[in-house]
Formats: sequence, C-alpha cells, structure tokens
Amino acid sequence: MKTFEYHKPSSLDDAAKLLAQADAVALAGGMTLLPVMKQRLNSPSVVVDLAALEDLRGIRENESKGVVLGAMTTHAEVAGDALVREKLPALAELAAGIGDAQVRNRGTVGGSLANNDPAADYPAALLALNGSVHTNKREIAADDFFAGLFATALEEGEIIRHLHFPIPEKAGYKKFPQPASLYALVGVFAAKTNGGVRVAVTGAGSEGVFRVPELEEALGKDFSPESVPEKLSDGVEEKLLNDIHGSPQYRAALITALLRSP
Ligand SMILES: Cc1cc2nc3c(=O)[nH]c(=O)nc-3n(C[C@H](O)[C@H](O)[C@H](O)COP(=O)(O)OP(=O)(O)OC[C@H]3O[C@@H](n4cnc5c(N)ncnc54)[C@H](O)[C@@H]3O)c2cc1C
Repeated sequence: MKTFEYHKPSSLDDAAKLLAQADAVALAGGMTLLPVMKQRLNSPSVVVDLAALEDLRGIRENESKGVVLGAMTTHAEVAGDALVREKLPALAELAAGIGDAQVRNRGTVGGSLANNDPAADYPAALLALNGSVHTNKREIAADDFFAGLFATALEEGEIIRHLHFPIPEKAGYKKFPQPASLYALVGVFAAKTNGGVRVAVTGAGSEGVFRVPELEEALGKDFSPESVPEKLSDGVEEKLLNDIHGSPQYRAALITALLRSP
C-alpha cells in the first residue's frame, strides 16, 4: 500500500476542505475502501475519516414523516433501530440481510450508496422508495443519483450527510444472495406510495440498479404477488447481466419469482 496522510476532522467544513485536495478520499467503515487500497486499485494520497462527524450520525423522523439516516449509520444500526423497524420494516430487513455480522457492524449506508456497487442492497431501496441523498452541497433525488456501475451524481469531494426515505403505504424487499459473496444476485424492492408503485432491481442490471415500469404498472393495479407476470418482456432481459453467476434469462426469472413469492 502506498503511504498516505490520514485525517479525522471533527467538523463537516474541515472534512470538505481536506477532501477538496487532489487525490483525497473519504473513509466511512472501510469495508470497500480498505480492500481496494490494499489491492492497489485505489491509491489516494489523503484519507479523510468521517467517523468523528456528528452531523453524519443518527436516525430520526423528519417533518414530512420520512426516515432520515445519517450517512455513517451502520447496517446493524439500521437493522436494529426501533423507528426504522416500525416505519420502514422492509429497510430494516434489507439491512439485516447485508453480508455478515462484521460487515453490518462496520459498513455504512452512506458508504454503500456512494460506492454504488451494482449488487448492493440500499440502491434498490432508495430508488423504489423515491428517496433522496443530502450532501454538504445539495439534495439529489434517487432518480438522478445512480449513474451506472460504481458511479453516482456525487462530485469529487462531495460528502453525503444523510439519506431521506419516505414512508410507503406498503413495501417489501426480496433478495436472492450470491452464496459466496452474499451480495444480491438479484434483489427486488417494491414500494406502494401515494405517488404510485415503484419497483427497483439490484444485482441484475448491466448498468446497476434500475426500475421496471412493466412491473410497476402491474403492481399499480393490484399490489399483490398474484398480479406479477410470470415472464418479463425481452426489453428487460436485454438490460441484464450475463456472467458466470447467471444468464439474463435466469436473472429475469428470479426477478419475477422473488416478487411472486408470498
Ligand atoms: C464481505 C462483504 C460482504 C458484503 N455484502 C454486502 C451485501 O450483501 N449487500 C450490500 O449492499 N453490501 C455488501 N457489502 C458492502 C458493505 O455493505 C459496505 O456498505 C460497503 O462495502 C461500503 O463500505 P463502507 O460503508 O465501510 O464505506 P467505505 O468502504 O469506507 O467507503 C466506500 C466508498 O464510499 C465513499 N464514501 C463513504 N462514505 C461517504 C460519504 N458519507 N460521502 C461520500 N462518499 C463516501 C468512500 O470514499 C469510498 O469511495 C459487503 C462488503 C463486504 C466486505
């Protein structure tokens, strides 16, 4: 590993100044960043640890009755939090199904969304719930946040402060984990809100998380497993990954099978 400067600022302003330097990177739980640095796939000169930023912590309900998660909230905290379990049980379940206990105790919701791994779970929740990402500079709607594999709308040095998840009337998340990594081979989040039904799929898309309008239409008529079609159109299959873990046809079949399972 190349040598680097390590900083642990205690204010968001200081963190932003440090991250404005060339070749600086934010560190959350280190679950992705540290292995990537060890493998020399990323060799930053400056590492800015976000752990002391109080502004990035906490779980609360906001004025519009949505759930707000500080970016540094760990998956274990999301899974065990009373407010999340009451208002958004699908999100608590999603968090409880991430990786293993070590990953859940170190990994953070902000790190997961900033990283935008195409098989990560939270992107499906944020997109299906029509949530938003709040940074030190602006608010970014979920529809504008994801920009392809490991890519987001975040600018260089921009820091996620918190995430906002509106409360749906009903929602559920089903994941078929890849047995070795425990990441989603396919994960489907479906949410019914007063703005309609949104369905987001992770793990399967060749460009990362995506919505499926034909499923949204079917579930919009009747939000039940029985209304999910057995087969998706060829247009959806064309967007799906083809790798050693599964063909597009297999992944497409998993999407509907997961939604049709009670
Ligand atoms: C063995 C293993 C199994 C896993 N299984 C799953 C799984 O089943 N499902 C799943 O969804 N994930 C899974 N993960 C990923 C894990 O959940 C972490 O959330 C993810 O690795 C990001 O880690 P982190 O939060 O520690 O962020 P870090 O590794 O510290 O950072 C990741 C990236 O995000 C950036 N970043 C972090 N915080 C911020 C912020 N606040 N603002 C801006 N940029 C930021 C960093 O600069 C870095 O580029 C797994 C990871 C491992 C190692």
